[in-house]
Amino acid sequence: QTDVKLVKEGPEGYMGEGFYGTKLDQVVGLARKNSIWPLPFATSCCGIEFMATMGSHYDLARFGSERVGFSPRQCDLLMVMGTIAKKMAPVVKQVYLQMAEPRWVLAMGACASSGGIFDTYSVLQGIDQIIPVDVYIPGCPPRPEAVIDGILKVQDLIGKESLRRRNSDKYKQLMESYGIQ
Ligand code: SF4
Repeated sequence: QTDVKLVKEGPEGYMGEGFYGTKLDQVVGLARKNSIWPLPFATSCCGIEFMATMGSHYDLARFGSERVGFSPRQCDLLMVMGTIAKKMAPVVKQVYLQMAEPRWVLAMGACASSGGIFDTYSVLQGIDQIIPVDVYIPGCPPRPEAVIDGILKVQDLIGKESLRRRNSDKYKQLMESYGIQ
């Protein structure tokens, strides 16, 4: 017989008098999503808008993502911003491969998402031709508010991700479809 009384049951877990129960997935997700380390891969004008997003007016630091890094091994969010020429594509893929799991990818702007106005032989028509993309931000260029919205969507994905998803068959198939082991 127990006299433990459940006071609240919600998406974040269980709460009662003197105890709180949740899942490890959710605790790790909460920590990860509020401490994203982005790697800005900026090749053109969209990168300028990202600089504005990092400035004091829009202040991305409010969302725990102010620590941008240029070492793929230390970062967990690849932000591709700008036109990616086909010659540059292997470099983008190499940077992605150098990032440790779990990693996420954000395509910022029309060029990174679909080639944008550069529908020409030398430009990659979207980075999802070479690596999996988690969130796309539309616009040419997207405003800082849209960039923040994109980061929040990434946060949402991170917060809900199961710790075991990356070992799932579905995830392995996705990686194999990009020729990534
Ligand atoms: Fe420049 Fe527009 Fe392409 Fe962004 S989407 S890199 S602003 S041309």
